[in-house]
Amino acid sequence: MLNFDLTEDQIQAKKTYQQWVDQYVVPFADTFDEQQETPQSLINQMAKDGHLGALVPVEYGGVGLDPLKWGLFCEELGRSSASLLSLVTVQSMAIQTLVKWGSTQQKEKWLPKLATGETIAAFGLTEPSVGSDARNIESSAVCNDDGNYVINGKKRWISFGATATLYLVFVQLNNMPVAFLVERDMKGFTAEPIKGMLGFRSANLADLSLQDVLVSEDSMVGKPGFGFSHIAATALDQGRYSIAWGCVGLSQAALEASMDYASKRVQFGKPLVEHQLIQEMLTEMIVETKAARMLCMHASFLKSSGEPSLIMETSTAKYYASKAATKSTNSAVQIHGANGCSSDFPVQRYFRDARIMEIIEGSSQMQQIIIAKAGHQEFTVQQRERNAQSNRG
Ligand SMILES: Cc1cc2nc3c(=O)[nH]c(=O)nc-3n(C[C@H](O)[C@H](O)[C@H](O)COP(=O)(O)OP(=O)(O)OC[C@H]3O[C@@H](n4cnc5c(N)ncnc54)[C@H](O)[C@@H]3O)c2cc1C
Repeated sequence: MLNFDLTEDQIQAKKTYQQWVDQYVVPFADTFDEQQETPQSLINQMAKDGHLGALVPVEYGGVGLDPLKWGLFCEELGRSSASLLSLVTVQSMAIQTLVKWGSTQQKEKWLPKLATGETIAAFGLTEPSVGSDARNIESSAVCNDDGNYVINGKKRWISFGATATLYLVFVQLNNMPVAFLVERDMKGFTAEPIKGMLGFRSANLADLSLQDVLVSEDSMVGKPGFGFSHIAATALDQGRYSIAWGCVGLSQAALEASMDYASKRVQFGKPLVEHQLIQEMLTEMIVETKAARMLCMHASFLKSSGEPSLIMETSTAKYYASKAATKSTNSAVQIHGANGCSSDFPVQRYFRDARIMEIIEGSSQMQQIIIAKAGHQEFTVQQRERNAQSNRG
């Protein structure tokens, strides 16, 4: 049975996250956006307060947060800075992948360092010529005579790629996708920062280049052929879940800013909030933010219970929440008028960041394909059951 009410413990956790972002992120997020960089001091603060290792199991030194509390944390980060949300998203993608598919040796080596934030991880799937069609990545690994692997290739748009020290990189090995852990200080590896993005401007993005990077067999995560179906799928499901919750936060931020502005700004003799066409936009924002939050709660419920339909429900939540964020932030700019287009107000940042949400972790079109396929399968199974029932009756 689904219960959408938070428990006392969850309410307390949400308050703690709220206070943390209000202290460390909200007052500075616009500056980081302008400077196009998240400073190391904030990353250190996150590490110190356990936020980078929140999903690492307790036995490896992490917090072992449950899916709902993780979602509540992502919502708060999304409310304050989508760029910072992307830091914990990529860190959590590496963590969940290692927890699920890492060897004992990989877990023992990396999870304690990811828990303390000593290691910052990034996720390297996209390439200059390959985005949505990720199965067809072109980077490659070749096994040499010693049983080690030589990696060559390029990765593009890698969140916190300019900061990370560990990279989960996807390549082809004999035409089979495979994932490797690549370290920043390995010979032949370089990370080049990317500036000038529309949104996620302080996500420390980078282009990665791997030229004859030599890695041992111990660095392979899972088996050859598992790269996309198992490793990337686990990481992307985690990424979508985190981003979906972050979009709820982004919509909430747009709503709160709009309510505040519309209550104070007077046109035609009354506050904007009393004009019915403004009320229509506010209503849509309220309803869509709530609906997105419900879908995220549903996904968190399924994640906690290990339900196999989770992947489809995570996609549904990400699809809806990112669209809601685009719409809500668009309305927020509209409600703010010219002020909404100026750097004096944060809604222009919300709007630019929301636009990115529909592209990362599988674009809206990719989610539509996943949801429609899964929906069709569900429909076929139900039809079969109904037919069997009517034949029996
Ligand atoms: C700020 C930011 C951060 C990012 N961080 C990371 C990261 O950390 N790691 C990483 O690996 N990648 C990252 N990415 C890359 C991101 O995952 C890709 O941009 C995304 O997968 C889409 O790929 P693409 O941009 O190459 O678009 P393309 O795949 O070229 O698609 C272009 C358009 O065509 C549509 N399209 C493609 N195929 C179809 C189809 N079959 N049917 C209908 N429409 C289709 C897409 O939806 C999109 O609208 C990031 C991107 C951004 C902008």
